[in-house]
Amino acid sequence: MTALTVSQVTKSFGATTALAGVDLQVPDGTVTAVLGPSGCGKTTLLRLVAGFGDPDGGTIDFGGERVFGPGRSLPAQRRRVGYVPQEGALFPHADVTANIGFGLPRADRRAGRRAAELLDLVGLDASLAHRFPHQLSGGQQQRVALARALAPRPSLVLLDEPFSSLDAALRLSTARAVVEALRINRTTALLVTHDQNEALSLADQAAVMSAGRIVQAGPPQEIYRAPASPVVAAFVGAAVFVPAVVTGRTASCDLGELAVRTGSVEGAARLLVRPEQIRVDGAADGGGAAAEEDARDGGQAGVAALVTAVSYFGHDATVQLRLDGSGRTVTARVPGNRLPEPGARVRVAVDGPVTAFTAA
Ligand code: ATP
Repeated sequence: MTALTVSQVTKSFGATTALAGVDLQVPDGTVTAVLGPSGCGKTTLLRLVAGFGDPDGGTIDFGGERVFGPGRSLPAQRRRVGYVPQEGALFPHADVTANIGFGLPRADRRAGRRAAELLDLVGLDASLAHRFPHQLSGGQQQRVALARALAPRPSLVLLDEPFSSLDAALRLSTARAVVEALRINRTTALLVTHDQNEALSLADQAAVMSAGRIVQAGPPQEIYRAPASPVVAAFVGAAVFVPAVVTGRTASCDLGELAVRTGSVEGAARLLVRPEQIRVDGAADGGGAAAEEDARDGGQAGVAALVTAVSYFGHDATVQLRLDGSGRTVTARVPGNRLPEPGARVRVAVDGPVTAFTAA
């Protein structure tokens, strides 16, 4: 069942078009990550769904109810939406229990029991119940903010970059705990993030926005593997683009003859190769063990290249390669325990298939 349907929603601020016709469907009980470059309209979309301001046009429905449309605008407090902003959501002079209590009916607030349940749900220790916000870490504060947003049992929770102020390690653990809490509660959520890793690893659905529109929405794996356009490809994960000529299911390019994912592109094309698809074999020119192995497997022997730089990240590394012949530079991502040396001569092959776009 679809919990939230946003249809053709537009919004301008003076001469600035923030939303140019947004269409989005969010299935019940799932987490959708909204991704996109700064200024593409993510916060505006969340605020309009929450009821903080009206769109210029379009409709918003959730829970089977029209909350915005021609002649109708349900006030924010009647939308059953919880909103968690980037930071500063907590009242500084109220302790954790009181902060969570702001979202609760009076009787529950006095009992304090629901506050304790919510602390537990967001993975915080009960001993924090009487601390003030300044006595909590950034990650703990964000969890309390989520607990407060969940307190009135909203149908929908909107999270606007709630983890962006946290450092890398805390960010992922907090994000995981928060999404886990949303899942346990079966709460439908929209999560705005700048962080592609966060979006790919946590969400059930990713929606990529560009210039006030959703340009692609779907399971994170699908968006990563089969992006609808070069813009989406470049925004979700690292991308290597290579010019090519496509004939049927084969593309001919500087990286050799590559298998192409099904598509309608024929002739001049722009190929998307993900860096982890580029395999670097530590064999010198003229074949070597890897090329012989490839030939035996019936795989691609690849093209010869020079390693120009290696950046090591622990679990993996990026390797810059200058291809013989064309002189084109491409970047491969390889396991951290199989590193070629800068200056080494190697052979480069691509594990297909790759995605082809019509040449610009
Ligand atoms: P970021 O990732 O940087 O937070 P965003 O994708 O959330 O950006 P929005 O904050 O929704 O983008 O802004 C979309 C566009 O609308 C931007 O050009 C912004 O300058 C403009 N905008 C947003 N709110 C207002 C406002 N209240 N008045 C005027 N312009 C606004």
